[in-house]
Amino acid sequence: MDIENLNTNGFPDESELEKIANQLFKSAPGGLQNNSGFSEQVHNQYEHNDTLKQSDGVNDLGKISQNLVNNNNLGFGKVTKSVAGSGISPSAINHPSDFSLEDPQTSLPDPHFYNGQIPKSVAGSGKSPSLQNQDLTHGNVTSHNKLPFETEQPFEHELKEVLSQINSTFPSSQLPHVSAFGINENSYYFLTGQNPLQYGNQLFGGANQNQNTHGISSYVKPPFDINLVKADFPILKERVNGKPLIWLDNAATTQKPKLVIDRINHFYEHENSNIHRAAHELAARSTDAYEAARKKVQHFINAGSVNEIVFVRGTTEAINLVAQSWGDQNLNTGDEIIVSNLEHHANIVPWQILAAKKGLKLRVIPVDDDGQILLDEYAKLFNSKTKLVSFTHVSNALGTVTPAQQMIEMAHANGAKVLLDGAQSVSHMRVDLQKLNPDFFVFSGHKVFGPTGIGVLYGREEILNSMQPWQGGGNMIKDVTFEHTEYHNAPGRFEAGTGNIADAVGLGAAIDYVNKIGIDLINQYEHGLLVYGTNLLKQVPGLRLVGTAADKASVLSFTLDGFTNDQVGQELNKEGIAVRTGHHCAQPILRRFGLESTVRPSLAFYNTCADVDALVTVLHRLKSNQKRSLF
Ligand code: PLP
Repeated sequence: MDIENLNTNGFPDESELEKIANQLFKSAPGGLQNNSGFSEQVHNQYEHNDTLKQSDGVNDLGKISQNLVNNNNLGFGKVTKSVAGSGISPSAINHPSDFSLEDPQTSLPDPHFYNGQIPKSVAGSGKSPSLQNQDLTHGNVTSHNKLPFETEQPFEHELKEVLSQINSTFPSSQLPHVSAFGINENSYYFLTGQNPLQYGNQLFGGANQNQNTHGISSYVKPPFDINLVKADFPILKERVNGKPLIWLDNAATTQKPKLVIDRINHFYEHENSNIHRAAHELAARSTDAYEAARKKVQHFINAGSVNEIVFVRGTTEAINLVAQSWGDQNLNTGDEIIVSNLEHHANIVPWQILAAKKGLKLRVIPVDDDGQILLDEYAKLFNSKTKLVSFTHVSNALGTVTPAQQMIEMAHANGAKVLLDGAQSVSHMRVDLQKLNPDFFVFSGHKVFGPTGIGVLYGREEILNSMQPWQGGGNMIKDVTFEHTEYHNAPGRFEAGTGNIADAVGLGAAIDYVNKIGIDLINQYEHGLLVYGTNLLKQVPGLRLVGTAADKASVLSFTLDGFTNDQVGQELNKEGIAVRTGHHCAQPILRRFGLESTVRPSLAFYNTCADVDALVTVLHRLKSNQKRSLF
């Protein structure tokens, strides 16, 4: 099969590729189907129940149909296991037809990725896809010494072991990429360096994935490559400074899968109404969708009751709510609040404001030189005045995973309540609130692939119902006279006024997406990626990793000798690589390490070893240019 139109780089034109790919897949056994009627399909998936024809008000939420929940409209319940790390797109598992090549969003591997070639992925293989594909002449690295990922990696064995644990943790029967494609059960294609196409042949019975004279067979990827997970996120096809976007700023915010974008769109096209208050069909639809999202959140964090889930704007608002409601009501002069040195400003400032108002004392748990909580020192902070411990599950500046379970138990043993800040944990690890047992848990939707402007306060039901409202208005009342107002119980009590209905629904869709991949597999895949990135960064001359805890998630903070953090950020940006530089709203912990800022790449499950390679390549280039300019 010949390609007629080549672009200036000698790569085939995208629409040309689409045409070819369509031909190929039409001829594949059981060939993939057209998905062009997507929006209608979504509408049908969200077919509304008819049982609720009138508004029942907050008191009657229980009557609201669980249609959305039970029917699991997007089909997420059908396949429990997924794929992070396997390179299998979640959509591919449940919706092979979603990968119709009529839909470039979800079908064609984007030639922007990796400059048009499938990366023979690399973790532990010692071979870099980016190296094969990147133009290393940029930055004068043409005749360079081998970069670390070009050579056999000393940590290869370690990484293999980490990734092989994925198989031992989950029965292989639950790992479709292993059993379905007949590969070595203890390895991944990106470990073996095998071309994932061959698994595609097995899956699709040897579809016509012929090599053509331009060597572009790798474009025609089967729908289970990690790049198809990327393809679920439309923004990852953006180009920045002429380069494919590599999003490594996930601790600041995560990108949104198309499914979330479509779900919000669908809400405004078919469901938009205020909730709880009207006697018409659209009020029923929007109330259903909103309350279904609450239920999804409840299951996602394993809260005991749906009434424990309060929708707020985000983590910051949730913490302020607790401070201004529970804190103001229950804390008195001389009482003490413990926070850790790792906290984001959002978990410091609200307590300081409250402390100033009420004469409270803030005490701080120190960390060691790796950024780990010093449990002995923590134990020493408790006394009879300690009323609250408020700390982060994962540090946004260092990536430290705190020993939350133990810390919560210690707080409870000392009679203190606990607020756990889950802003950086929910997208990377399983959160089981019935096991962890904090009194409050907070997170933001936008950090878990959902929209901005929506977040969650979890509170133990009896505590929430004993708390004073923090805002008054509609929706949160049972009865109002000029003399007296009676409030609803949680969650309505804390949701005064019209909330962010559409984005709550979008958050529900984001949770569906994460569930479909499987949070445990996400956790393990990302762990492998973190090990990979850590080891490569360590080999960059003059690079100081900031935050070297044994238990970390996502974050790889560093400084680079001879460069300001902004310079590094800007150089990375020139290559389309997005990282955060600055103090990350966590000045106290950076100052603990004698720093005002760092460069902070942070990973999510749609990142790959190739993304990490691209990052490290720029850092090596900076260092080698610096060395040259010294001579
Ligand atoms: N807590 C932590 C640990 C964070 O990382 C962040 C945001 O980066 C926040 C709180 C504040 O989150 P938001 O800005 O979404 O309210």
